[in-house]
Amino acid sequence: MRRARKTYRALHERYPYAHCELDFTTPLELLVATILSAQTTDVGVNKVTPLLFARYPTASDYAGADRTELETMIQPTGFYRAKSDALIKLGAALVERFDGEVPGRLADLVTLPGVGRKTANVVLGNAFGVPGITVDTHFGRLVRRFGWTTEEDPVKVEHEVGSMFPRSDWTMLSHVLVFHGRRTCHAKRPACGACPVTQWCPSYGVGETDPDKAAKLLKYELAPR
Ligand code: SF4
Repeated sequence: MRRARKTYRALHERYPYAHCELDFTTPLELLVATILSAQTTDVGVNKVTPLLFARYPTASDYAGADRTELETMIQPTGFYRAKSDALIKLGAALVERFDGEVPGRLADLVTLPGVGRKTANVVLGNAFGVPGITVDTHFGRLVRRFGWTTEEDPVKVEHEVGSMFPRSDWTMLSHVLVFHGRRTCHAKRPACGACPVTQWCPSYGVGETDPDKAAKLLKYELAPR
């Protein structure tokens, strides 16, 4: 437990600016962006959302969207047919059941088409300020490498890791782990030699340990301090 807290503190120091990397200004925008982010990068989603959000500002705009036009707008994010379908159904469900507003409760969010627990937690944590742990591929990989859990099931991971930290840390914990996974502790070639948590990580050595070679593996948009 102390090891986990120290790891979190060190990662928070390394990525004090960690945040949700999807651009949005309203819960609806974040919900749509999160659905679009499946199987693609946040950077790719941020390229299509300015035009999309301007064209479809409300849930009822998605409900009544012209499918072909919507598909064309989101095509660069991949799986655009399934995603268009999800957005149209999402818009309709929001209008029918929630007066066109995105609900701020997990139990309601997960009843929406295309919205699983991961998406719901992203929206709760970032658009509603409700503490939430978002177990995406980076989060799951890292907490297993850290030895915080051996679970593979995202819901079990969420509960096990959640019990190790105060609720107030949950959203930032999710952000710093995702940042660490994207920038340093990659799935294929983790940069162990340039990692700030080596002393608490039982997986040190699964990646490059030479400091110079490891530094070249870092994927930073900002240099580490
Ligand atoms: S020491 Fe290696 S495996 Fe452990 S967190 Fe750092 S980069 Fe990942």
